[in-house]
Amino acid sequence: MASIFTKIINEEIPCYKVAENEDFIAFLDINPNAKGHTLCVPKKEVDKIFDLEEDTYHRLMKFARKIGIALEKTIPCNRVGITVIGLEVPHVHVHLIPINEMRDMTFSHKISMTPEEFLDLVKEIQKNL
Ligand code: AMP
Repeated sequence: MASIFTKIINEEIPCYKVAENEDFIAFLDINPNAKGHTLCVPKKEVDKIFDLEEDTYHRLMKFARKIGIALEKTIPCNRVGITVIGLEVPHVHVHLIPINEMRDMTFSHKISMTPEEFLDLVKEIQKNL
């Protein structure tokens, strides 16, 4: 069965899309740890990050770096944290999380955002891409 991220990539379900190219997509995490929490996802569905082809892995990191720099410019924060988990969605994704303190990297601390806030944030991030 296709992962929820493949359904997003195929536009079967919506997302707050930040950026996209032929091979990767970045969209806001729907249940963010912090404002600007973004997922960078290869369009080809692979479960575990180290199962990606080496070239795809490097290009995913290059894509994530570009998004991370835009996040740093957009969100007042100490830095952008990066992590890979994949226990909830078995489709490779890099979490980029603007952080100020350690708890921003813990997935037990969440913030809530309205659809309008998500949409406005996408526009602000895109200005800095
Ligand atoms: P994990 O697989 O443990 O790295 O976590 C999956 C992440 O995907 C979580 O942070 C979820 O909030 C996020 N997520 C799940 N479904 C969606 C969705 N439809 N749109 C955006 N983010 C999602």
